[in-house]
Amino acid sequence: MSPAGRRTLVTGGAGFLGSHLCEALLRRGDFVLCLDNFHTGTRANIAALLEHPRFELLTHDVGEPLDVDVERIFNLACPASPVHYQHDPVRTTKTCVQGAINMLALATERRARILQASTSEVYGDPEVHPQPETYWGRVNPIGLRSCYNEGKRCAETLFFDYRRQHDLDIKVVRIFNTYGPRMYPDDGRVVSNFIVQALRGEDITLYGDGSQTRSFCYVDDLIDALLRAMDAPPDFTGPVNVGNPDELSMRELAERVLRLSGSGSRIVHLPLPPDDPKLRRPDIGLAQRELGWTPTVPLDEGLAATIAYFRALLV
Ligand code: NAD
Ligand code: UDP
Repeated sequence: MSPAGRRTLVTGGAGFLGSHLCEALLRRGDFVLCLDNFHTGTRANIAALLEHPRFELLTHDVGEPLDVDVERIFNLACPASPVHYQHDPVRTTKTCVQGAINMLALATERRARILQASTSEVYGDPEVHPQPETYWGRVNPIGLRSCYNEGKRCAETLFFDYRRQHDLDIKVVRIFNTYGPRMYPDDGRVVSNFIVQALRGEDITLYGDGSQTRSFCYVDDLIDALLRAMDAPPDFTGPVNVGNPDELSMRELAERVLRLSGSGSRIVHLPLPPDDPKLRRPDIGLAQRELGWTPTVPLDEGLAATIAYFRALLV
């Protein structure tokens, strides 16, 4: 557990994962500096924290340099849904790369420990399944997803070069698909899309034949993993996969959401987006061994909590 009073910066702190992380850090006794430019995040996500005596909001773009007094940095600032990160792809790459450079410079200046929220997208459309950290991936460098995939890969490179060049204390965590309350109803990710469509009685939009797979991690499990990775000894840098290895097809997910929500929506097929990975499941052996972490929330339980969240939001 962290000593009370540690000053911790969370970039992207008003986002889906960032807001849950800020809450968890406050519960541990940290002073939390939440940095966000509200590109995809919302004030509503952090409204309950604004009056907290150990919480501070800094409206700032990670693409700009920053000098603040911090001991730890979680670098989460970046749109995460394909719809959002493809909307302004040049800006997405800049946020990934220039954002990493600015936060690494800050960490070097302050001798702070810094954690990068990387992604399973660094594996691209993988030929190795499940994906271990030793797999270098199969990424299209010029496709619609490349602004994000290659931006995140370059950010990883920068983290390890800062470690080699400046002896920086780094952690790189590769996050696999995560879901839960505070996902946005309109960001196009599959869990939020299916639930919102089911609750509104609209058609469920299954892309392609629905045989592509993903493995979904509930947000509480993911936040626990981020805290453990940050607390790991300095010689543990990662990259480390974090996700739930319980894999299912998107057709199965659609059927699961229909059953749990009691919806009568129909499933319709739409074209598969370009470069959509066919399979994805993390090998989490490293996280289990080095962080003592295993996800605990079963998909049905997490989906039920997420459906309850959206039911309340959409009334
Ligand atoms: P999100 O879009 O909800 O949150 C991202 C936050 O970053 C938002 O609050 C947004 O306003 C902020 N932001 C974006 N660009 C910024 C900039 N230039 N300067 C300052 N703030 C900026 O997404 P999320 O799901 O919470 O993802 C958080 C991080 O985790 C991202 O880095 C993402 O790549 C990574 N990740 C998430 C998932 C997932 O399934 N949710 C999977 C893999 C990786
Ligand atoms: N998907 C779908 N219907 C939707 C949204 C997404 O079938 O309304 C599929 C998408 O093609 C992909 C999977 O669900 O195969 C996960 O998509 P998401 O955008 O959530 O995340 P990704 O893992 O692709 O970044």
